[in-house]
Amino acid sequence: MKKHNFNAGPSILPRIAVENSAKAILDLNGSGLSLLEISHRHKDFQAIIDEASALFKELMNIPDGYHVLFLGGGASTQFVMAPYNLLQTQAAYLETGVWAKKAIKEAKLFGNVNVVASSSDKNFSYIPKGYSIPADADYFHITTNNTIYGTEIKHDMDSPVPLIADMSSDILSRPTDVSKYAMIYGGAQKNLGPAGVTFVIIREDILGKVDRKIPSILDYKIQIDNGSMFNTPPCFAIYTCMETLRWIKGLGGLKTIQAMNEKKANLLYDAIDNSTMFVGTAAREDRSLMNICFVMKEDYKEKEDAFMEFTKTKGMVGIKGHRSVGGFRASTYNALPIESVQALVDCMHEFENENM
Ligand SMILES: *Cc1c(COP(=O)(O)O)cnc(C)c1O
Repeated sequence: MKKHNFNAGPSILPRIAVENSAKAILDLNGSGLSLLEISHRHKDFQAIIDEASALFKELMNIPDGYHVLFLGGGASTQFVMAPYNLLQTQAAYLETGVWAKKAIKEAKLFGNVNVVASSSDKNFSYIPKGYSIPADADYFHITTNNTIYGTEIKHDMDSPVPLIADMSSDILSRPTDVSKYAMIYGGAQKNLGPAGVTFVIIREDILGKVDRKIPSILDYKIQIDNGSMFNTPPCFAIYTCMETLRWIKGLGGLKTIQAMNEKKANLLYDAIDNSTMFVGTAAREDRSLMNICFVMKEDYKEKEDAFMEFTKTKGMVGIKGHRSVGGFRASTYNALPIESVQALVDCMHEFENENM
């Protein structure tokens, strides 16, 4: 049976990226060696990391003065590295979910943290608005897409202080005005590549402003000076990222990707909004294009398990909602074909018809 992969992360990747990665594991560029068996200093690997970085810059239109890094440790290590390198006295954070809370917890180890607004009062089902960003903060940290709750900040905001964004789950899903951000980071495993690599896009002029000593491996300046190779980088994961970036370029870039993502999300949101049985959990204006969360209305609550089972018989994978929201979550990342969304919508209609 054909599988429809709605996993939240690690998650679906372009088929061509997976196939070419498999080939590179067996034989990289006809060299007779596996991608897994060559030095990260080998010219063939240097070409891979250079291309991945160049494609990132091209697709996101990254201005001069920024660097693209490929590091280990996941987004969670960036929760630590960002304040380590950038928090001198006070930082501002927007609390929009569990990942934001984890970032806040780590930042508190390094200085004062001003949580400017939170949506915890309604289980993070919306993006706070109308707050002000303190002009004396060292930086302002946001989570653009809240993977667990299905809310997203879909515009590039103005900030009086350096803006730092965790874009783990919406990187490369739309054109982004990188010049509005001092730093963008995320784990690759949601929308870009396999687990194991973390991308960091950073403007160099924000560095060198804290007094504390920074361990080399966690020092952005040292990572920049060493071209992400202060230590052995996650070579294989970087290769797959490069293949995904090639795929995006081949499709025509981020405008095309955005149009595809909007079409997919609208298809599913329309089905939810027009349903008598299902209801969305996120505030309409803040709904994510990447993670679509919905539950069954009170009258049908006891049918949730039956629907879960029904979707499995139709090849759906990964639509169980996160335990803190319940219900269902369909992750509709870049690589998910619209046919899979249509299959889920058909599934919902069929289930409704049989169970109303
Ligand atoms: C998945 C996720 C993380 C955690 O990433 P790791 O690479 O596992 O540390 C952080 N932030 C967001 C928004 C996520 O979706």
